Amino acid sequence: MSESLDEFRARARAYIRQHIPEGVDSYTMGSDSDEEELEDVARSRELQRLLHDGGLTGILVPEQYGGQGLTAAHSEVLNEEMAGRRHPFRLQVPTMTPCMTVILEFGTEEQKKKHIPAILRGDEIWMQMLSEPGGGSDVAGAQTRADRDGDEWVLNGSKIWTTGAWWADWALCLARTNWDVPKHRGLSVFMVPFDAEGVEMHRIELLNGSKEFCQEFLTDVHIPDSCRIGDVDDGWTVGRRWMFYERSFGSSPHTLRPAGGTMATFGELYDLAHEAGRADDTQARELVGEARALALAMGQLAERIPAAVTSGRMNDQAASVIRLMGCRVGRRLSTIRWELLGSMAGAWTDDDDDLGRWAEAFLSRQVSEIGGGTTEMARNVVSERVLGLPRERTPDQGVPFRDVPMGPPSR
Ligand SMILES: Cc1cc2nc3c(=O)[nH]c(=O)nc-3n(C[C@H](O)[C@H](O)[C@H](O)COP(=O)(O)OP(=O)(O)OC[C@H]3O[C@@H](n4cnc5c(N)ncnc54)[C@H](O)[C@@H]3O)c2cc1C
Repeated sequence: MSESLDEFRARARAYIRQHIPEGVDSYTMGSDSDEEELEDVARSRELQRLLHDGGLTGILVPEQYGGQGLTAAHSEVLNEEMAGRRHPFRLQVPTMTPCMTVILEFGTEEQKKKHIPAILRGDEIWMQMLSEPGGGSDVAGAQTRADRDGDEWVLNGSKIWTTGAWWADWALCLARTNWDVPKHRGLSVFMVPFDAEGVEMHRIELLNGSKEFCQEFLTDVHIPDSCRIGDVDDGWTVGRRWMFYERSFGSSPHTLRPAGGTMATFGELYDLAHEAGRADDTQARELVGEARALALAMGQLAERIPAAVTSGRMNDQAASVIRLMGCRVGRRLSTIRWELLGSMAGAWTDDDDDLGRWAEAFLSRQVSEIGGGTTEMARNVVSERVLGLPRERTPDQGVPFRDVPMGPPSR
């Protein structure tokens, strides 16, 4: 018999109180030193292992793959019980969602038994190899090639903007396996270990000093056919679900998100208004109210759309609505914090921990509108695939990929 929500809550609470330290984790692409970043990764793996040993990982994952075989409601309970506790944030996105969810949906029995328990134990961290130097928006236009060689595939090409690849173990990789059919019909998905021979990784330094992004050069990388996910040339079937999971990661029951986000935003902003001496200022109060309304609306949307997709009332492309709204809300919240702080946000020192954090968040507020697919692309998907407006004409429609005019492969 399945564990009731009350029984699960009691078990989770007892274990978390005894084993999981208090504290708050959030993922920012900061300028931590490599040593600090690797320590963070190791801490995330340890926390994941602790949760795993307490039977608190893979809440929705079937038991035969090391999970608990429970429900999204149990996952919500876990999020509530984890409020105010450290959590393995570096293993959530993209390891749990979308990578693990893709393996769960499309992997063979052998693939699931090998990788899912390892992911749940914190032994495998996964990344996504989608974007290429030639462009990331046109995901289906991938030029990284995979050629069949007996029981193996030989991968050649380059992927870029792979966040955190340098401290990760595996990646899902979209590659072209057939050049004689239109672009969406000649792709396949592979699981690639980062330590495979022929994978050369370069780190890209951003203006703020972060070296989180990587570019991988794949030269004659041999991958066994047992690492292919889904059918040959049918990678777009996998890819569409992959994008769905990626766009709705914020509401995925597979992703641990300790509760308190919405209220914390409200509380945080209220504290910021105080800190800036503006708690009684009408304009500041309106800003805090606006933030509260946006966070509530976002929370509702993040519940309603996945429910509509699950029940078949909306197609899975509707995840782009969440993505679009999430980006707009995130951007506005950063701006509201900035506006609340006024001149205090214009200059800060290393001692002003919070102020520096909010000012940097404001400066990099566009990041979320690019990572995971740009908001322009999300608008295209919403208009064409959700609202049913006419499709944009593209010169590569129905054309064998090898005949599509393109520049030399960028390396
Ligand atoms: C924080 C962050 C993390 C990331 N992590 C990863 C990762 O782990 N793995 C990975 O593979 N990639 C990752 N990316 C890359 C990201 O997916 C791409 O940057 C994104 O898809 C856009 O691709 P691009 O940068 O090549 O821009 P392009 O595709 O060259 O687009 C340039 C501009 O043109 C617009 N545009 C392009 N086509 C259209 C169209 N048809 N209609 C309207 N506008 C259009 C775009 O919206 C954009 O504004 C990450 C990016 C960021 C910022």
